[in-house]
Amino acid sequence: MTSWERIEQLLGKDALDHLSRQTVAVVGLGSGGGFVAESLAMSGVGGFVLIDDDVLEAGNVVRHVGDLRDVGRPKVDVVADLIRARNPGARVTTVRGRIEDHLDALAGVSLVVVGVDGEQAKYLINRLCLAQGLTAVYAGVYERGEGGDVVVINPSDPASPCYACWADDLRDGIQDPGANELDYGMIGPEGTLEAEPGLWLHVVRVAAAQADLALNELLRGREAYRRMPANTVILANRPLEIFDGRVTPPYGAEWVEIARDPDCLECGQRDRLSEQAAEDNVSLEQLLSDSGIVYEDEDTENGDR
Ligand SMILES: [Zn+2]
Repeated sequence: MTSWERIEQLLGKDALDHLSRQTVAVVGLGSGGGFVAESLAMSGVGGFVLIDDDVLEAGNVVRHVGDLRDVGRPKVDVVADLIRARNPGARVTTVRGRIEDHLDALAGVSLVVVGVDGEQAKYLINRLCLAQGLTAVYAGVYERGEGGDVVVINPSDPASPCYACWADDLRDGIQDPGANELDYGMIGPEGTLEAEPGLWLHVVRVAAAQADLALNELLRGREAYRRMPANTVILANRPLEIFDGRVTPPYGAEWVEIARDPDCLECGQRDRLSEQAAEDNVSLEQLLSDSGIVYEDEDTENGDR
């Protein structure tokens, strides 16, 4: 029996009861996603849908919650066992495969944690979340783990960007002469964040912020909810010139509010899709193809970071 006494002291009984009834989907169980899943289980979240198509390899062990005892096992099973070892009462559903092949895996969850690196997979998750009105928390780790960013995308907030407008602004936003002047453009030719791996301890610093923001979103509307300074946090592990001409020191963080792009092709259709998704007799796959939102099945890396 897990003792939740200390979590209850921190968050209160009401919040803990609420968290135990929530179900979080974690898409991608690499170093970041695996850490977030286990951390949320340790914080009282009671339900999980784990989605990943990889098995744990020996080379992953220096950057994963699984260890040498788990090599050769699907990461969904590794992380499911870790969750149950912390909370035997947790409800865990495992989906061995890529989100591209399991479009309805997010149905009915409370929140989505995005632990994949591939930008194409992130855009697909963005579409699924917009269609279902699901809040999603995305994280990206920069080259060699020098830093990373986390954003909360909340489709029920009309001012919130979707992941597409957010990525467009943050990742390519160097041209913007305003406050959001950022000094990096790390999308590689594959549309993936350049993933020279960082040390585990640098990756999980970003993942800890992702887990904390996910937990906070689950508590939205309750006393334990904390209002955050903006929708995006950028963390430095090394001195990082996040804003032009100003170096953020190691362990420093900058909060940035990224606005919705009214001309965004993705979230422009948000309202129509949400209405349709409410109709139970329409499958999401059908909905997406009817909407002309067809996912191009290119070879994307859905892997860990
Ligand atoms: Zn958008």
